[in-house]
Amino acid sequence: MNKLLLESGKYLNPSGEAVSGDIGIENGKILFCGVKPAGWQADEVIDCHNSFTTPGFVNAHTHAAMTLFRSYADDMALLDWLQQKVWPAEAKLVAEDVYWGTQLAIAEMLASGTTAFADMYFFMDQVAKACMETGMRASLSRGLIEADGPQQDQRFEENEQLFVDYHGAADGRITVMLGPHAPYTCPPECMKKVVAMAERLGAEIHVHLAETQWEVDQSMKKYGKSPVAVLNELGVFERGAMAAHCVWVSPEDIEILAAKKVRVVHNPASNMKLASGAAPVAAMLAAGVTVALGTDGATSNNNLDMLEEVRLASFLQKLNRMDPTVLPTRQVLALATQGGAAALGQADSLGKIAPGYKADLAIFNTTAPHWWPQHDLASMLAYAANAADVSHTLVDGRVLYRNGEFTTLDIEKVKAEAGARGLRLVK
Ligand SMILES: [Zn+2]
Repeated sequence: MNKLLLESGKYLNPSGEAVSGDIGIENGKILFCGVKPAGWQADEVIDCHNSFTTPGFVNAHTHAAMTLFRSYADDMALLDWLQQKVWPAEAKLVAEDVYWGTQLAIAEMLASGTTAFADMYFFMDQVAKACMETGMRASLSRGLIEADGPQQDQRFEENEQLFVDYHGAADGRITVMLGPHAPYTCPPECMKKVVAMAERLGAEIHVHLAETQWEVDQSMKKYGKSPVAVLNELGVFERGAMAAHCVWVSPEDIEILAAKKVRVVHNPASNMKLASGAAPVAAMLAAGVTVALGTDGATSNNNLDMLEEVRLASFLQKLNRMDPTVLPTRQVLALATQGGAAALGQADSLGKIAPGYKADLAIFNTTAPHWWPQHDLASMLAYAANAADVSHTLVDGRVLYRNGEFTTLDIEKVKAEAGARGLRLVK
């Protein structure tokens, strides 16, 4: 389908206002929004009279295949949770598990209006395969953790091969970064190798950073510096970096993040569930740091619903600052869309409904009671809407989800495969 018209609806414009008009899509991009040019004919029309169209959400930090472990281990401390539950189960993963777990994640994301995700996991060629087949957009990185010689070398080789094979694949829908897991699992010698590889390949870096107070304490003990300062000295931020969490960052750390243009990914549900803390999002934004939102893995959330992150990001910040004016609706929606696009390094082509931008869109049906009365659609999207209101999700102008049906994946098979595999892994 080359030409698609979203007819007579309302949509979220780049400054965060709901406006009325048509959206025309041609060859995967937004051709016009507002008034349809005379003579332009669509091949397919979606009636948007009762709809509100928004840029697709960018889930800028997740571990998609962790859907396999959803609700298997809840209400535990981060390190106990990792060491006693997650890592032993993950040790049993085979390639096909990751493929089916990722398909399940993609289905969940598409059904809730997410059109792109940044993933860090293993068997990443399987994640790439799932994205190629479903039409989803993603930034992929292979998690790198310090290990004994050959095992570590193999992981590095896998990340390099992933970059060679898939960076820019599927018309640019798939991009690849290097994925050093965190400063505490990838200490300086390991991190130096990542930086050298990033320089050699021209690759960017996706890392977990300053997630817990424990991480900062042990960094101060070992190196006399914060995790942010350690990575900065190692050159991790020099070529473009995306840092998940940044909960425990000092004003000096925030200055570094701003100066080095590090894109911070805030994961409020994960941070609250694991009691990691409240990231100083308002302070980072005030300092000029780019902030995006993410769900983190389904085990620490436990869903991949970006609307929940939008709401929690705003409410957590208000509570933490005891200030109801921080992170207002339009700003928090921008984090989930434009901020996510910037985090992926694609701010000039993603995250806005404007001519020339890629047609990655979510269409919300506004007929349910919670959409009335319609004082302010942008505010309702941020604070009142449900993921279940999504009627259509488009990536590159292609409809991947339509009225409860997936056009590129067999949801019954995905549920059966992921369901059986998830149960096997924790036996
Ligand atoms: Zn994570």
